Amino acid sequence: MTTPPKIRSEMERELYLRVIDLEARVRELEKRLKSTRAAAKTAAERKALAVEKKHKPRPRCPGCTLELPPGRRGVSCVWCGFRFDAVPPWPAKRRRR
Ligand SMILES: [Zn+2]
Repeated sequence: MTTPPKIRSEMERELYLRVIDLEARVRELEKRLKSTRAAAKTAAERKALAVEKKHKPRPRCPGCTLELPPGRRGVSCVWCGFRFDAVPPWPAKRRRR
């Protein structure tokens, strides 16, 4: 819409100019919204990635290989009752931060 349609009155001309102005503003807002959405998306993705990183694999029971629940590690597995002192201590290669 670059060439104005037949303008019959001053009011129509005024309205036409306002429509042009509003269209430009809407386009500007859409552009801004798009970039905001993109930024929000990447922020959400980054957050999800951080959460994923935070979720470290839990120690597993050597008997039933189920992940041990968080908290203090008892002397035996809560799932199968495997005695942890029945096997040599686990390698300490995965250090807790
Ligand atoms: Zn177990």
